Amino acid sequence: MFENLSERLSGVFDRLTKQGALSEDDVKTALREVRVALLEADVSLPVARDFVKAVQDKATGQAVTKSVTPGQQVVKIVHDALIDVLKGEGEPGALKIDNPPAPILMVGLQGGGKTTTTAKLAKRLKEKEGKRVLMASLDVNRPAAMEQLAILGQQIGVDTLPIVKGEDPVAITLRAKTQAGLGGYDVYMLDTAGRLSIDEELMAQVEAVRDVVNPRETLLVVDGLTGQDAVHTAENFDERIGITGVVLTRMDGDGRGGAALSMRAVTGKPIKFVGLGEKMDALETFEPERIAGRILGMGDIVALVEKAQETIEAEQAEKMMKRMVKGQFNMNDLKMQLEQMLKMGGMQGMMGMMPGMGKMAKQVEDAGLDDKILKQQIALIQSMTKKERANPALLQASRKKRIAAGAGMEVSDLNKLMKMHRQMSDMMKKMGKMGKGGMLKQAMK
Ligand code: GDP
Repeated sequence: MFENLSERLSGVFDRLTKQGALSEDDVKTALREVRVALLEADVSLPVARDFVKAVQDKATGQAVTKSVTPGQQVVKIVHDALIDVLKGEGEPGALKIDNPPAPILMVGLQGGGKTTTTAKLAKRLKEKEGKRVLMASLDVNRPAAMEQLAILGQQIGVDTLPIVKGEDPVAITLRAKTQAGLGGYDVYMLDTAGRLSIDEELMAQVEAVRDVVNPRETLLVVDGLTGQDAVHTAENFDERIGITGVVLTRMDGDGRGGAALSMRAVTGKPIKFVGLGEKMDALETFEPERIAGRILGMGDIVALVEKAQETIEAEQAEKMMKRMVKGQFNMNDLKMQLEQMLKMGGMQGMMGMMPGMGKMAKQVEDAGLDDKILKQQIALIQSMTKKERANPALLQASRKKRIAAGAGMEVSDLNKLMKMHRQMSDMMKKMGKMGKGGMLKQAMK
């Protein structure tokens, strides 16, 4: 799966990660190559374009982390962008099949792997979720297809609806529905007929069946090797029938993989499973994180960058804590604290988590401090000079006026901020004095 794309991309990123500093041009060149690689993998043009733009935007706005190279950081950004483009809502592979008997409609073109996938999925539901499954073939034009499903059913120990000659697809569907109800099945799967290409008769037939059972899931099975054709097929079926998800088959081949990357972005429908071979076990849930990892093949770098980002945040927090305990809590620390609070869901959330801060959290709440105020306070601190931030004792009347005006606020707002700073720094000092068993020190362990 994705071998060619993966090779191309790792070539691009190998060159990028070997360099130390990166110029904007380096990144541009690399992204141009990423775009070509995506197009060669048969990813649709708008998707490739949006992808590269998203990466570029993030790469430009990103703060540099010193323990990793810029190239490594770009790899991580590309990795995250891949996950974004692949991701649907909900758990990978989750199907809505409560309220038994739940109908699942399997649709797609002939030869895409529909019958095989119906049986694979039935096996999975039976073995992994303990469901009782009934399968029915609606392919009245090809008796061999009905036989094929019956044989697969025997192989995997899943019941199939007995074949009755001369019935039309709607009649078979009604029989399956009744049988599923009477027989106490959790799920019944309807394997509709396929055609070599989309035609009116096929669509009308599938529609008629759909209207009889109102399926809980309508899964389109398409050959992943067909690239953009698979995406067009999905668009067509979705317009006419309404699908809830896609199964991409033949992803075990050395296909270009573009279908997987374009599907979600173009159709808005998630890929739920991928077929990885002819055997009945060769069906996997589609997991964006894992797929992105496979495509990039740079798991080490991604992990390294994640670790570096975590470490830096932890180091900063630890340094601040140390200064706080020593009673050296300045405006830079307060600013960092406020920014952290914004990130962590506001002041109450943050204070509630810090030992001994419960009471203050209440005060914060009473004072009506919310995100907007946090942002204003950060603006006030930004309006101070370096010296003032390091030494808040400098803040006398004339300085206060300048700072408040610089942030577009009143001196009274600044006074409130300073009061808060004082209260916090007093509290820190007290905690620091509690010695070895002090609450803060405990919290730092
Ligand atoms: P249908 O006409 O859509 O029902 O297609 P079938 O289920 O009959 O599958 C057509 C062929 O594709 C069969 O030979 C299957 O074994 C094969 N096939 C189905 N899924 C996969 C897959 O994920 N990988 C591979 N390699 N072959 C598959």
